[in-house]
Amino acid sequence: MASSSGAFKSREAWKAAKELEEARKAGTAPPAIDDDGKIINPHIPEYIAQAPWYIDQETPSLKHQRNQKALKRNFDPLGKWLPRGETVGPAATKYRKGACENCGAMTHKKKNCLERPRRRGAKLTGRNIRPDEAIASVNLDFAGKRDRWNGYDESTEYDKVLERYEKIEAERRALKVQKLDAELRNRSKKQRPGKGNSDELSDGDDSDDSDSDMEKDGAVEQDAGQGSKMVVRNLRIREDTAKYLINLNTDSAYYDPKSRAMRADPNPDINSDDKDYAGDNFVRYSGDVTKLAQMESHTLKAAEAGRNLPHLQAEPSRAEALFKDFEAKKKGLDKRRQDEIREKYGGQEYAKLDPGIEGVQQTEAYVEFSSDGRALKGAREIIPVSKYPEDILEKNHNAIWGSFYKDGNWGYGCCHSTQRNCYCTGDAGKQAALATEADMAKRTEAAIAKRNPEPLTKQWEKLERERQENALPEEEALEKEKEHQNEVAKQIRKQAHEERMMAELDTARGKHSRIGADDPGGMSKAAKEAYQLRKQMRDDPMASYIPEKGT
Ligand SMILES: [Zn+2]
Ligand SMILES: [Zn+2]
Repeated sequence: MASSSGAFKSREAWKAAKELEEARKAGTAPPAIDDDGKIINPHIPEYIAQAPWYIDQETPSLKHQRNQKALKRNFDPLGKWLPRGETVGPAATKYRKGACENCGAMTHKKKNCLERPRRRGAKLTGRNIRPDEAIASVNLDFAGKRDRWNGYDESTEYDKVLERYEKIEAERRALKVQKLDAELRNRSKKQRPGKGNSDELSDGDDSDDSDSDMEKDGAVEQDAGQGSKMVVRNLRIREDTAKYLINLNTDSAYYDPKSRAMRADPNPDINSDDKDYAGDNFVRYSGDVTKLAQMESHTLKAAEAGRNLPHLQAEPSRAEALFKDFEAKKKGLDKRRQDEIREKYGGQEYAKLDPGIEGVQQTEAYVEFSSDGRALKGAREIIPVSKYPEDILEKNHNAIWGSFYKDGNWGYGCCHSTQRNCYCTGDAGKQAALATEADMAKRTEAAIAKRNPEPLTKQWEKLERERQENALPEEEALEKEKEHQNEVAKQIRKQAHEERMMAELDTARGKHSRIGADDPGGMSKAAKEAYQLRKQMRDDPMASYIPEKGT
């Protein structure tokens, strides 16, 4: 497979090779191994695995895929580096031809000499000739050229680092001793001699390290003893108000600093709707917690009684359903027992709520009252406010307009005056109004009695009789009717003319005509009828479509 395909294969051999290849791909036969003992991946395609005919490669191998030039080249091994500052052999004693004219070394020219330029070079004096420098070259491969640590000698370089650090440390220690000495001298000058200074010494040592205790991310290193340091992170959200700051009174709810728990409510006076925090126990005893506790106790009691209820954690839904069922049954049983007792002993009437307080319910809202009944703390009674101005007293009244109503008129309650914006007359006004009213009633009665002393039924009978007596014959009535119609038509024309005149006058004055609203009182019967007719015509939306005969 991976060999050169130059050799001829018989049909059977080719078939066998093909089968082996398939088996290798399927994993049933071991893969081919090259000269170096490496496995050849059977899934590499044939055109890659097979060497070209001109390479003449008999055994299976992938060497033909390698860079042949790179295989032939000889690179220096890793770690080989140029010698620096090294010299070769002892220095020459005589100036050699072609050597540096300045120092006499053979490896460079005067132009490149690193020696101090001599007044008279080695070429002239032949003395103090420098030894030749060691010159080498390294042949590095791709990786070697890019190895930034090539030539690094850790045995010498790291020693330098250690040496430097030790020097710095020694200097620091010396400085510290000097500083402590100065401090001690200052103290002994101020204080009496003989006092123990060892504690203060150690204190000073601690304060030196305290800078590293606080780190930027809020983590605090704590000394956990035996010199080891432990990082303790504070998990409290720092934007929140700490529980112990909610109520600063020392008698308020207890805050446990170790567990950071405040179980009681720090502000029991404040309405629960108005506060964000009502103690840790609020969370423990609110919501579905009580229900769960009831279920738990029910399960425990049932277990004590020998009944086996579904486990609360293993089958929560079934347990809850059974508990609900039990509750409903218990309620029904209680109700029945109550009914039985009432049937036996009576007293149903006391079970009913007083109708006056039927709508009244209990509330959890906390309200604190003063001795005179005003609300000091908690919710006050809220009176809805309308968008209109309210409770505004006018003039010197002490009741608002609209606090009094009589016979279709609004007025002020303080003085019973129905005149808006009049001045208040107080009780005197009230009595005067009452007196006027009584007087008016008396007068009206008297007037009615004076005008028509007979009762209404008799008056009606009298009128009817008169009508029958005054009834005219038909012709006469017709004529009278015609006359009346003529009179009405005449009045209509007259009124229309007057109206037109008035309208002209009004437009001349720049006023709006109000003739239609004139009082029809003080007119003759025909004029009244004409007025009514014309008014109807004006009000009729179809009036403009009816041709007016009279005008
Ligand atoms: Zn030189
Ligand atoms: Zn008034």
